[in-house]
Amino acid sequence: MRHRGIACAVCNFQRKKCPQDCILEPYFPQDHPQQFQNAHNLFGVKNMLKTLQNLDDQEKKDEAMRNMIYEANVRAKDPVGGCYRIVLELEKQIKMAKRELACSILITRMLY
Ligand SMILES: [Zn+2]
Repeated sequence: MRHRGIACAVCNFQRKKCPQDCILEPYFPQDHPQQFQNAHNLFGVKNMLKTLQNLDDQEKKDEAMRNMIYEANVRAKDPVGGCYRIVLELEKQIKMAKRELACSILITRMLY
């Protein structure tokens, strides 16, 4: 439940009154200004609003915002690599797991 009378991080940043039906408030509560700042730096308020307006399903809206916020936070921590570095690391782990599995299968076949 949101605190009435307290602007969300977006409205606070834009120095405007946070309306009852503020569509960005659920994603950027007033106690998470850095999260908003990261998302604003990477995507901009206009693009986040456009994304939300182009999606009709609430689940898709939530998922899109979760992804944008995640990507923005990762980018803020790692401005060069961002999510790409995470994808590379996960691909490396998958490759290692596949090799380990292949070795285990080979050893199992040799033993039995
Ligand atoms: Zn607001």
